[in-house]
Amino acid sequence: MKIFDVSVDLYNGMPAFPGDPPIDIKRVLSMPQDSFNVSLMCTGTHIGTHVDPPIHFVAGGYTVDKIPLDHLYGPAVVVGLPGIDAVSARDLQGADSDIILLKTKNSALWDSGKFHEDYVYLDESAARWLVDHKVKTIGIDYLSIGKFEGGEAVHKILLGAGVTVIEGLDLRKVEPGKYTLACLPLKIKDGDGAPARAFLIKD
Ligand SMILES: [Zn+2]
Repeated sequence: MKIFDVSVDLYNGMPAFPGDPPIDIKRVLSMPQDSFNVSLMCTGTHIGTHVDPPIHFVAGGYTVDKIPLDHLYGPAVVVGLPGIDAVSARDLQGADSDIILLKTKNSALWDSGKFHEDYVYLDESAARWLVDHKVKTIGIDYLSIGKFEGGEAVHKILLGAGVTVIEGLDLRKVEPGKYTLACLPLKIKDGDGAPARAFLIKD
């Protein structure tokens, strides 16, 4: 069995979606002056590898603490889409899994440590395909599933249908294929999103 960490590090100055609050971690108790180390962390809920529940874009939608656990753990497929700028329904043909993770050229963007606006996103046909195929969870390897400007419709199609969205995956070290996903967002009560530790297990 091999386990691949597919979440990004959380650190001050890491790339965040423009307009979202950045992360700020600071040590408030430090050894040896204090007898132990403790930090204060202040962050937006959509930082790094994170999960979007319906309430993120849908009034009255359920919150991150209510996401069904079978959306966050189970058989998953990593689909390799290296050569495209936008994911359409036709790119998803044959992706036969309740949990689909898209490995695009986005994964290489993590190398720079900066935010890039020209990331690969899902178009509306892809979002509808996922809803029509009753996919539980869609993941992508950058900070939004939708286009940099105009990504709202894609979020609304997916989240409105109860598809869980994982954003900010790091799939650089993972080959396309079948895995078991474990994606563990913080259980923020009534949260509109939460950072997550995510890993893929290959038997
Ligand atoms: Zn998000």
